[in-house]
Amino acid sequence: MKKHKVYLIAGLVLVAVLMLTVILYHAIPERQLDEPAVTAAQTTRSDETTVDEESTTVDDATTEPDTTEDETTVAVTTAQTTTRAPQQAGWVYPFNFPGVYPVMAYIPMGDAFYLILVNRHNALPDHFTRNHLDLVPAVPGSAQRLHRTAARYFHQMYQAGRAAGVVLTPLSGYRDTAHQNRNFTNRIARYRNEGHDHATAVDMATRWIKPPRCSEHETGLAMDIGQISMNFSNTAAYRWLLQNAHNFGWILRYPPNSIQYTYVNYEPWHWRFVGVENARAIRESGLVLEHWLRQR
Ligand SMILES: [Zn+2]
Repeated sequence: MKKHKVYLIAGLVLVAVLMLTVILYHAIPERQLDEPAVTAAQTTRSDETTVDEESTTVDDATTEPDTTEDETTVAVTTAQTTTRAPQQAGWVYPFNFPGVYPVMAYIPMGDAFYLILVNRHNALPDHFTRNHLDLVPAVPGSAQRLHRTAARYFHQMYQAGRAAGVVLTPLSGYRDTAHQNRNFTNRIARYRNEGHDHATAVDMATRWIKPPRCSEHETGLAMDIGQISMNFSNTAAYRWLLQNAHNFGWILRYPPNSIQYTYVNYEPWHWRFVGVENARAIRESGLVLEHWLRQR
């Protein structure tokens, strides 16, 4: 009889412990249980993106292979998606995308304007579009427009390319915020259709298309040239640009293996006007605009 009682008590204790375990497991806030899963998903995504980017990377003599690229990209990406940039007093980014919390871009005066930094962390304010746009056709007769000075230098570059036997077709210059917003939300919709959740779709989209107000195309200082395809990197026009664009004030804005600074994949077609002196200095430095601005 005594032995049975001992077994009964031991059994009850065991059941109680099991029940307590189950209750405690469910009592932990959902957030804590979810976090490791989300981080793992982000890491996987980053890996995939990096592989995509590197598989499309072509020979570029100015870029050394970087074996630590994968780790760096993953670490920075995770930090970006979890860190909210502080909003400036009196200014709020007027769009609502998870993980996109830019501050207001600083707008330099005079010729320094050509060095304006616009990316997913630095967005153009309302007063930019009202006060700073001075647009003309990139080359006479083109529907693509650029800031007046950028257009003058683009035209010179276009003619020099022509003389050297390459055609630098201006595909996409200035885009207004509504246009940029359409491009961005269309890309998000595409990733959502592929089964990704909203936050993931937004993060994936930012690697190819900048959120509205966060695109250099909205400044009139950027031009997509030739063809919007990785194939452009295999063309004579691209090779000519790499050798000559800086002499006309233009830089390759998103070179291979620079996503940790630019937050954007390699885009051989996207060129940015910064002024001749700056373009030469940036090319000489081997740095991307974000990095170069911090070091000067
Ligand atoms: Zn572009």
